[in-house]
Amino acid sequence: MGLYAAAAAVLAGVESRQGSIKGLVYASSFQNVKQLYALVCETQRYSAVLDAVIASAGLLRAEKQLRPHLAKVLVYELLLGKGFRGGGGRWRALLRRHQARLRAELARLKVRRGVSSNEELLEAGAQPGPAAQVPRFVRVNTLKTCTEDAVDYFKRQGFSYQGRASSLEDLRALQGKSFLLDPLLPELLVFPAHTDLHEHPLYRAGHLILQDKASCLPATLLAPRPGAHVIDACAAPGNKTSHLAALLKNRGKIFAFDLDAKRLASMATLLARAGVSCCELAEKDFLAVSPSDERYRQVEYILLDPSCSGSGMVTRQLEEPGAGAPSPERLRALAGFQQRALCHALTFPALQRLVYSTCSLCQEENEDVVQAALQQSSGAFRLAPVLPAWPHRGLSTFPGAEHCLRASPETTLTGGFFVAVFERVQVPSSASQPPAQAPEPPSPGPKRKKRRRKAAGDPCAAPGP
Ligand code: SAM
Repeated sequence: MGLYAAAAAVLAGVESRQGSIKGLVYASSFQNVKQLYALVCETQRYSAVLDAVIASAGLLRAEKQLRPHLAKVLVYELLLGKGFRGGGGRWRALLRRHQARLRAELARLKVRRGVSSNEELLEAGAQPGPAAQVPRFVRVNTLKTCTEDAVDYFKRQGFSYQGRASSLEDLRALQGKSFLLDPLLPELLVFPAHTDLHEHPLYRAGHLILQDKASCLPATLLAPRPGAHVIDACAAPGNKTSHLAALLKNRGKIFAFDLDAKRLASMATLLARAGVSCCELAEKDFLAVSPSDERYRQVEYILLDPSCSGSGMVTRQLEEPGAGAPSPERLRALAGFQQRALCHALTFPALQRLVYSTCSLCQEENEDVVQAALQQSSGAFRLAPVLPAWPHRGLSTFPGAEHCLRASPETTLTGGFFVAVFERVQVPSSASQPPAQAPEPPSPGPKRKKRRRKAAGDPCAAPGP
């Protein structure tokens, strides 16, 4: 199937709620997923404009064999995209017959809306919701460069640099060709929403990672000490893994697991581009990874970012505004897996610190999973009180839930997200070692003596709630 037919099929699938753009792109048999994803997203972004132009040009009335989704993709390419690429010969010829009319309708639409550029047309057409106002966050990959050099590069390219933000209001006010540094995360650049850096040379060279601020929290809060052993339990496509590697300075080891071969293949490319050299990838069910395996004897840190409903994802909110919550059956299945994975992770014998995260807004996948795991660990772990200034906290469904962090476009100008940080409870012992690292963000405390807790090998073996 060619690029345009594949893009039309994905658009049709999204409209009939068969899945998200990303899911359908990955499920398609089209080879160049990045190219397909970009084309579908852009066509979707201009959807209302394209509908208006196609309707006023009478395209579908004149060409009855042209299906609406394909028409939308082709008109996007012709009027707003980079022009026709290879393939789609028959349709290109057909569209060219209509191009004068289509161009005239686009120009008329701009006049009616009092704008001159395509981008302005987009802004004038719709009142963007909070999800559309989430800034473009860019993590500087410290394995390849430093924040100062990245800032200088953008300044040389004519971007106006506004220094480190002091509040979210500074982020909200960003516009035009300007950027600043995030008030909280040290290596995070912030650009106005919709700044497209996919073709930027620093991104292509792996110096920059396009990653939402909320999704930078898990590795930041896990804060593994360089040289440590870390498990990334559900790792693909690997943005958080590359962040972990940067924090480790490529020293130590990351054992990264995922079930999905296709996602692991993109992950290998992503990690290579980011200069990650301390990571071992394995196509494996994390639940089948044995905590008693000698290889994981020194694992002190685990990042668990399991499959979830994705109900907080900004792309989903933009693609399917007002989409309902996942069905109760799906939520039950997801929460069941998440809880099993979390309990399993807590059984690794040397584990000191674990971050659990989802891009879901549902209590069932977040606070409920955390609460059940804490209860089942029967006191071996507790929630670490992290980022006291973070404005959006866990739902108060159990004592201590305020230590969890939530995120949303409205409250934190990020995608919807949830994070909880577990730390092992230290049993007072005269034999305790001093902490491994200064606690900002807090790092694991003293190394636990192996025989200290009889049940430590399996916190989930304790009776449930
Ligand atoms: N942490 C990733 C990142 O930042 O790029 C995103 C992870 S995504 C939310 C969840 C991943 O878990 C998916 O890639 C999925 O294939 C994987 N997964 C689901 N069940 C799994 C299992 N039992 N063991 C390992 N990975 C699993």
